[in-house]
Amino acid sequence: MAPLAIKKAQGNYLYDFNGTAYFDAISSWYTCSYGHANPVLTSAVKAQIDKLHHVVFAGMTHEPAVQLSQDLLEILPSNQAKLFFSENGSTSVEIALKMAFQYHFNRGEKRLAVVALEGGFHGDTFGAMSASGLSVYNGPFEDLLIDVIRIPVPTTDNIEILLQEVEQILSGHAVASFIYEPLVQGAAAMQLIDVTSLCRLIRRFRESGTTIIADEVMTGFGKTGTHFASDQMGNLPDIICLSKALTGGIMPMAVTSCSQEIYDAFYDDQTSRGFFHGHTYSGNPLGCVAASAAIKQLVSAPIQACIQRITTLNAVFAQQLKQHRMVSDVRHCGVILALDLNTEMQRYGQQRNTIFKWFWERGIFLRPLGKTVYIVPPFTTTAVELKKLHQSLIDFLDSGMFK
Ligand SMILES: *Cc1c(COP(=O)(O)O)cnc(C)c1O
Repeated sequence: MAPLAIKKAQGNYLYDFNGTAYFDAISSWYTCSYGHANPVLTSAVKAQIDKLHHVVFAGMTHEPAVQLSQDLLEILPSNQAKLFFSENGSTSVEIALKMAFQYHFNRGEKRLAVVALEGGFHGDTFGAMSASGLSVYNGPFEDLLIDVIRIPVPTTDNIEILLQEVEQILSGHAVASFIYEPLVQGAAAMQLIDVTSLCRLIRRFRESGTTIIADEVMTGFGKTGTHFASDQMGNLPDIICLSKALTGGIMPMAVTSCSQEIYDAFYDDQTSRGFFHGHTYSGNPLGCVAASAAIKQLVSAPIQACIQRITTLNAVFAQQLKQHRMVSDVRHCGVILALDLNTEMQRYGQQRNTIFKWFWERGIFLRPLGKTVYIVPPFTTTAVELKKLHQSLIDFLDSGMFK
């Protein structure tokens, strides 16, 4: 398919060069949770651009970074104490993995293995790619990846066997970190993870001294109903990866947060114990002010009410979907809703393009993954817009396109 040219985006809609509007049902890859060109966010960036648009973030700091640190630490899980800035989800994961390796190194332990979940997605740089279990992306690079031990996603059915498997892994390998997407595996077509089982895994890894990394690049900032998916889990991670909706989609930015204990293993008069990782645009002031403004939106009563409304309407709609003969599975969590079509399909096959086109022609932008059609609408989606979107999903299922 030739790329579709987008002229502008405003609120919950994308506009093409004919002026046709398309509802952004996936918030442009889960970024623009407060709508495109949100006036509060854009005015924060506009006000900052004349003051300080960029400066080296090594040996220097600035007000927007200090402010963002305060704002983020206020809403992050209580054990998170320090932040490390970068520009995208992949680098936030890369940094988390390196941080975990060096944390152990600095403590005099050589731990070189990473444990990750099957079907997980953590990004496209080498470390992140290695941790990702979706091998369709990694074919040409398999021989170059770092050592990652992959285990099945924990379920109530497999957890006992899985814990035994983990015992074997821990006795045979020096594991540095365990990385997972909390509650929802996004790129695996919005698969939900059983919280209790995942918590048991985390607890076992923690007992063994393994650093726990939650990749909240997709789940962060309200999408699962709470500020972070980790808020719904009893076992908190040592490190959290954040990006995507961090700035409400206005600026590319990422943060890797960590606990005081992780930080303390680096803080020393000896320079070699420091964390030598930095990107040119780390801590970009425009990104920082956008992120601070986005966090202010997130915690506001109106946006919290929006998240609640979408969550409730999705839950009701999920019950309706479950009855549909064309649907084999329905999953929902917060504003995320996914349905599996009762048919077999390739992840990126021709049928997927047909589904994409069906919705596009009806003014809706979404990106099916194999037989899964999912939505992650902006929080600013009205009840009327959401019901219309739900109805289009039903119309699609009723269309008889797939039997
Ligand atoms: C999107 C995503 C990434 C990668 O983020 P990029 O900004 O695309 O590099 C990493 N982890 C998860 C869970 C993601 O959804």
